[in-house]
Parts: sequence; C-alpha cells; structure tokens
Amino acid sequence: MNPQLKALEALQQIDAEILELNRTGEGNPKRLAELEQDLAQTKGLWEQEAAKVAENEQQRHDLDEQIQAEKETLRKWETRLTEQRTPREYSALSREIDIGRKSLETLDHQKTELREAAIPLEQAAAERQQVWRERQKTAGAEATEIRRKMAALEEKLADLSARRAKAAAICESALLGRYDTIRRKRGIALVPVIGGSCRGCHISLPPQLYNQLRSGTATIHSCPSCHRLIYVPDPPPETNGT
Ligand SMILES: [Zn+2]
Repeated sequence: MNPQLKALEALQQIDAEILELNRTGEGNPKRLAELEQDLAQTKGLWEQEAAKVAENEQQRHDLDEQIQAEKETLRKWETRLTEQRTPREYSALSREIDIGRKSLETLDHQKTELREAAIPLEQAAAERQQVWRERQKTAGAEATEIRRKMAALEEKLADLSARRAKAAAICESALLGRYDTIRRKRGIALVPVIGGSCRGCHISLPPQLYNQLRSGTATIHSCPSCHRLIYVPDPPPETNGT
C-alpha cells in the first residue's frame, strides 16, 4: 500500500474518533441549559415567596416601632395628667390619651393580622424551598455530571486534535486537500476496494482501473462514481460478493 495512503488512513482513523466523540457529546449543552433553566426557575419561585415573608416581617417590625413610640407618648401623657391644675387642661389631655389608646389598639390589631398572614406565607416559602433543594439534588447533580463529562470530552478532543495535527503533517498537502474536500462532502474520504467494487458507493470499478490499483502504482486514484480516494488493501482480503 502506498505510504501516503497509509498516512491518510491513520488520519482518517483519528477523524473517525473525533466524529464519534463529538456525536457522544452532542446533546450535552442543550441538556445542561435545560437543567440550569429548571434550577433557576425553581429557585426564583422560592425567592418570590421568601420576599413576601420578608416584606411581612418588615411591616411587623415597622409596626412594633410605631407601637413603642405610641406607648412612650401615652406614658408621658399619663404622667402629665396627674400634674394638670385646671379641669379644662385635664379633660383636654384625657381626650388626647383616649385617642392615643384607640390608635394603639388599631396598631395592635394590625400586628395580629400581619402575624396571621405570615403563617401561610412562611408555609409556602418553606414548600418552595424544599422543592428547590430536592431539585438541586436531582437536576443539580445531573448538571454537575454533564459538566464533568463535557470537561473530559474537551480534554480527549484536545488530545485527538494534537494527534491529528501530527498525522496530517506526514501527509502531502495536495493529497490532504483532496482528502479534506471529500470528507466535508461525504464524511468518509478514503475507502478500500474489495472484490473489484468501491466500499464507499458499492459500484464495480472498470477492470482497467482495478488492475492499476492492484499493481500498486504511485498514482492515487478516485472512484469514478463517488470520487472517494480508493485503494486495494494490503494484503487483499477475501472477496465477499459485494
Ligand atoms: Zn465509490
């Protein structure tokens, strides 16, 4: 077998490995994106509920401050009440105190309502958080596994690409050009001729061409039908009827 064809055959073997690896990893980016979107969505739903809980807490905190301030004012007024000299001053301050107490009641009532409203909110947030945590265990673990596979694949491809560069360096550039052009069009560029027919397209070659191939001339021939580079394997395998 022509040494140039041997070099090309080695190159083709590497190309087949590259193709196979790329095929193996084809679905990875899409699946990873799906998983990441799912995780982000689940987390987003939890954060929405958690934000409602936080808002409720903030409102209660604000109310507490208002209640404390109101109580403080009432205490001052009640102390001042004992110091009032005239009945008019006394009753004016009493009215203020009454209004203050009513306002305090309203605030207390609002606080109770907020506390009650917090219960279902906290439940919903806890449920969403649980869903997110479970999803992290399943989808998160799958995503981690896919990332690991992608990294391993990347490494193998880098290794193969280095091997391909070495193998290509041995090939004559004109032949390499022919090979790459056919490969882009037909996938496999170099095929054996077995029993007189091209393994690429299964057509029977003209006897004269077949004889030339068998005599092992320096010329590298193409199949007249599919234009793939052809050779007769060395030593020729048995004819299998194709
Ligand atoms: Zn052919």
